[in-house]
Amino acid sequence: MTITTSPARHRSLGDHTWQDQAVCNPTEYNPVDPETFFPGPEEADKIATAKSLCAQCPVRRACLDAALEAGDIHGIRGGLTEEEREALHTNLANRLDHSRVNDTLAGRDIHLTKGERRAVVLAGYRQGVTVERLASLLKITEEHALKLYRETRRAIRHRQIADEATRTTSAMDGSVALGRHDFGTAA
Ligand code: SF4
Repeated sequence: MTITTSPARHRSLGDHTWQDQAVCNPTEYNPVDPETFFPGPEEADKIATAKSLCAQCPVRRACLDAALEAGDIHGIRGGLTEEEREALHTNLANRLDHSRVNDTLAGRDIHLTKGERRAVVLAGYRQGVTVERLASLLKITEEHALKLYRETRRAIRHRQIADEATRTTSAMDGSVALGRHDFGTAA
């Protein structure tokens, strides 16, 4: 199989702007062979060459995220081989990366996991991000964003009530223990 597209172009979700900075983009002055990034498991020299190019790449992190988000399991991405990325692909649905949450709040177009979307809503609520802005960040309707904020407010209230109950119980336990010591020494 002949590969003619650089690995950075093999994906489609979210923000694409990072691709222009990819070291694997072949140009007149940078004649990188895209095939280098699709080595066979035994091609150690090819793997080493691709990894050394990735090590110099300023968009390595964005490239790895893009491959994970697009479910792109082929070739070397972000400096990792197919085998090295396997566990990341498998566990992607459980990812909760706060730097990605913060980047989303800052306006970057990121394909988030469910947990990361929940974290964006919670952080947005706490930081006073408007319903309109949340809707735009998550690419949902304002009605949906408002509903998410209502659910968040309810969840926070329930947790506060639960925390309050725990604190009250602890305080009652503490007073019993204190009383026993005090009466013991006084007797
Ligand atoms: S990290 Fe490697 S595969 Fe990804 S864009 Fe950079 S050079 Fe290409």
